[in-house]
Amino acid sequence: MQLTIPQPAAATRERSLAGRTALVTGSTSGIGLGIAEALAEQGAQLLLNGFGDAESIMRTRDRLAMEHNVEVAYSGADLSCPEAIAEMMAYARDVLGPVDILVNNAGIQHVAPIADFPTAKWDAILAINLSSAFHTIRAVLPEMVERGFGRIVNVASAHGLVASPFKCAYVAAKHGVVGLTKTVALEAAVSGVTCNAICPGYVYTPLVEKQIEEQARAHNIPPERVVSDILLQSQPNKRFATVEEIGALTAFLAGPGGASITGAALAVDGGWTAH
Ligand code: NAD
Repeated sequence: MQLTIPQPAAATRERSLAGRTALVTGSTSGIGLGIAEALAEQGAQLLLNGFGDAESIMRTRDRLAMEHNVEVAYSGADLSCPEAIAEMMAYARDVLGPVDILVNNAGIQHVAPIADFPTAKWDAILAINLSSAFHTIRAVLPEMVERGFGRIVNVASAHGLVASPFKCAYVAAKHGVVGLTKTVALEAAVSGVTCNAICPGYVYTPLVEKQIEEQARAHNIPPERVVSDILLQSQPNKRFATVEEIGALTAFLAGPGGASITGAALAVDGGWTAH
């Protein structure tokens, strides 16, 4: 005899992040948007952040709110500027209440040999990819510790664990993010606050699309060869990770199952860093 187990309707099924608030930096595009989507799907109220076309950002905000029945706010703060970050953190608190889940995801890239690497690009990459996480964590951690709950997820990179040539600022910043993650995890360990880094290999997003175009021009080869011979050359499973996969891992870390995972640098890289 076959047993039919009754399942609650999707709309009434308990969502693992219901009642939580989440701030995701750089969530107007790519991985950050995938993470925002996964957190909203589990019931978290959201503050989105990032650049882009204003109308398209408002459409994304409204769609997330409607589809997942959650509050969604937006801040266009420039994360290279500590004062703008402070304003964003205050705004998040005003509109959503204390932040339970902080995802530091915003990032930029520049590829050049170190001798030609523009100083302004070095400064911008360090500010956006690394220092912004210091400023946001610094703003939310005391309150998380006081309330006995918090989840901090820093989107680092496989380049937080290993290096590649021509990416000095990015590799330095992402190694820094992994170090910051471990330090915060230790400082907060007994408080119910966890802090982890996700280290993706290549994920197909606008950031990578731009790299494909640039490398195709630089090497004078078609984009398909940049993908097979350069980008996925180090990624043993020979496919891009997806924003949905990174979103699902973030939602897991933020939920009850993630309570004992802290200080980890979790590779989502198809085996790249197993080499
Ligand atoms: P993306 O370009 O699609 O998104 C980057 C986001 O950051 C956008 O929302 C953008 O508006 C925002 N942003 C950029 N500068 C900002 C600033 N000054 N202030 C506020 N927001 C700003 O890129 P992505 O591929 O989704 O990358 C997201 C994160 O994942 C980055 O930290 C990146 O280093 C990391 N990562 C990406 C890959 C990949 O293959 N795509 C791999 C490993 C790690």
